[in-house]
Amino acid sequence: MRIGLIAVDGHSGFPNLALMKLSAWHKAQGDMVEWWSGFTRYDRVYMSKVFTFTPDFDTVIDAAEIIRGGTGYRSYEDLPPEVEATFPDYSLYPRCDCAIGFLTRGCIRRCPWCVVPQKEGDIRPASTWREIRRPDSRKLVFLDNNVLACGHGLTQIEDMIGEPVWVDLNQGLDARLIDRQAAALLARLRWMRFIRMSCDTSAMLPVIRQAAEYLAEAGAAASRLWCYVLVRDVEDAHRRVTELTEMGVEAFAQPYRDLAGGEPTEEQNAFARWCNRKEVFHSCRWEEYRRGG
Ligand code: SF4
Repeated sequence: MRIGLIAVDGHSGFPNLALMKLSAWHKAQGDMVEWWSGFTRYDRVYMSKVFTFTPDFDTVIDAAEIIRGGTGYRSYEDLPPEVEATFPDYSLYPRCDCAIGFLTRGCIRRCPWCVVPQKEGDIRPASTWREIRRPDSRKLVFLDNNVLACGHGLTQIEDMIGEPVWVDLNQGLDARLIDRQAAALLARLRWMRFIRMSCDTSAMLPVIRQAAEYLAEAGAAASRLWCYVLVRDVEDAHRRVTELTEMGVEAFAQPYRDLAGGEPTEEQNAFARWCNRKEVFHSCRWEEYRRGG
């Protein structure tokens, strides 16, 4: 079979794990796999869309079969188990120098703004870090949504301590689960750069302060901490960014999009631009930036 792949919103540059697994699985069956090219007829084309708010791919596709998947298409089905179990084909992304995967899937919480409960369901083990790691890289990027909520996730973190691997848990840790014991484990990992957490409401501020104290006691300085800040009410987000910055935690603003893919307001976008462009953030206050348009 001739297989074409389309990462519909792949412009972010972050590798598409589902397409890498599909590519590896088809190659193992002897199929020819490549990025879709408008000059070829395919037996099957896979289109993967991660985000609901990005435009769809509207070019005519010459293929006997087209399979669309991913959150962006509101398709929450898992890959077939045999594909899910396949080691990803990293040759699709020659510039990617890290392994990518999930130690766990799902979440214990049901935050109303989040698609994870609907998409992935309850927390459960997915893989071990040894299954995810690449033979040609020591970097591991985990996409887990709430790794600390799962005994398997904690065991995997413990098992990586002292190993020559550098880790990023790039979806943000649930600070409510960073007690002294979890902090001691996290502080002993080698981090690629930041220990990431999430601060979606002001109620999380004292929790993050406590987590930062536990992490500091365990040897992870506040300058290693980084935090997603969901931006719904801008004044509330501003308060969170201000307090996080006072704690020494780097804030990253994420404008809220409802589950239907509704666009953020111009003010939410402006706030994110102010917060995330650090040269701007450190040179003017939000009130000044907002006034300046
Ligand atoms: S804790 Fe995070 S992953 Fe879990 S439901 Fe809430 S926002 Fe989603």
